[in-house]
Amino acid sequence: MLRKLTEGIVITTSPFSVVIFSKSAAKTILKFVQNDKLKPEAGGLLLGYRHGNNFEITKVTVPFPEDIQKRKYFERNDSNHLSIFSKLRTHKNRAISFLGEWHTHPESNPIPSPLDKKEWQQIKKHNTESLIFCILGTESTYFSVYK
Ligand SMILES: [Zn+2]
Repeated sequence: MLRKLTEGIVITTSPFSVVIFSKSAAKTILKFVQNDKLKPEAGGLLLGYRHGNNFEITKVTVPFPEDIQKRKYFERNDSNHLSIFSKLRTHKNRAISFLGEWHTHPESNPIPSPLDKKEWQQIKKHNTESLIFCILGTESTYFSVYK
């Protein structure tokens, strides 16, 4: 489902879900929108709090050197994503959760590739709770919620 990603509330239907981005989380990932010809795909984790099927995204991770970033390809490969998550969980706030992942596409209204969908299903297999995946295009963002 295509929506504008902004700070604050984004509502998706099918399934219905309220997604809240903190100002810093929204600001951080919007920097990676591929709005010029040289920017490669980027991505990372969405972290925060789950309220049923609703999500409050307060932290995100961004690309690290070991990730694979090409114009039309992103692979999260760097262990820093997960180590940031475990540090947040251990030292600051045990309740913070892995909520899903984000990445960019060099297109205005992005649609998930077959590989994207396959990967999301794989991640969902290992998580019993609901998850959210976002693809940031240059005009809108694709949201997919897995219950
Ligand atoms: Zn993709």
